[in-house]
Amino acid sequence: MTTARIIDGETIAARIRREVAETVAALKSRHALVPGVAVILVGEDPASSLYVRNKERRAAEAGLRSCQHRLPSAIAEAELLALIAALNRDPAVHGILVQLPLPPHISTRNVIEAIDPMKDVDGFHPLNVGRLARGEPALVPCTPAGCLALARSVISDLSGREAVVIGRSSTVGRPMAQLLLQHDCTVTMAHSRTRNLPEVARRAELLVVAVGRPEMVRGDWIRPGAIVIDVGINRIETGAGRPRLIGDVAFAEAAAIAGAITPVPGGVGPMTIAMLLRNTVAAACRQTGLVCPGPLGSWQ
Ligand code: NDP
Repeated sequence: MTTARIIDGETIAARIRREVAETVAALKSRHALVPGVAVILVGEDPASSLYVRNKERRAAEAGLRSCQHRLPSAIAEAELLALIAALNRDPAVHGILVQLPLPPHISTRNVIEAIDPMKDVDGFHPLNVGRLARGEPALVPCTPAGCLALARSVISDLSGREAVVIGRSSTVGRPMAQLLLQHDCTVTMAHSRTRNLPEVARRAELLVVAVGRPEMVRGDWIRPGAIVIDVGINRIETGAGRPRLIGDVAFAEAAAIAGAITPVPGGVGPMTIAMLLRNTVAAACRQTGLVCPGPLGSWQ
């Protein structure tokens, strides 16, 4: 039986996208500034193509200028780096996003490090990673930023809470832990070598799971009343043609014990793009020396 509050990522993401659109409208009318994002897609991976299409659609809906660069998978790394250098110089482009993963002959590290840190709307550049780790203003990776917003929709003040993050990837788990530390949580990072993982998870008043293993976290891993944020997106073949998406948390079991929980789909997923739009507007304001007007001003 579900007793937990379901954290509706679709609704919260829609509110953030509306706030972005209001801010963009104010920037246009007051400062003639149209925040712009460039999205680079290398190769034909269907999942990546879909993500990029969704990002473009949402950017256009919010009034941002977006340009897409679709490059063949055989492109030389030097050519990709030259494109990034040109986008770094382009004053109409305030955010640059390279859709990952890249083909194996291209160094992801070289590509990320080539992006101007001020335009690094994914927050993956070492300068932004370092600033986040030092608790300084930074462009923060979109998925953990979205998870934080979801958790704070349940408890606005996370100070002093026991938080456990399962998964330590540089795109989700690590920046998530840094963000929670910034919000004064007591943070435990767990991973594949963690001993007694269910016991560690049961300490959490806030449990964030980013592992990529379908329904790994069971109901008896959950502390009663905890907030559970499930980042996992696992495609399960049902045999009925369309794959089903499930999270890293066994939802029905966990929802009977947690205080609040994100569903999959409809939880963290929609937040990632909303945060990308927000990062682009923040980057545009910083690059042009403007204070973000409207509802986004408070978080800049
Ligand atoms: P990675 O594969 O990069 O990292 C997975 C992490 O989980 C690693 O740190 C790994 O530990 C840990 N792990 C793996 N198996 C276990 C285990 N049995 N017990 C404990 N820890 C384990 O994944 P990502 O962080 O990129 O993604 C995680 C999930 O989130 C995926 O399902 C992905 O699809 C989803 N995702 C969703 C997004 C969204 O927008 N909603 C965005 C990004 C990701 P170790 O380091 O020790 O190997």
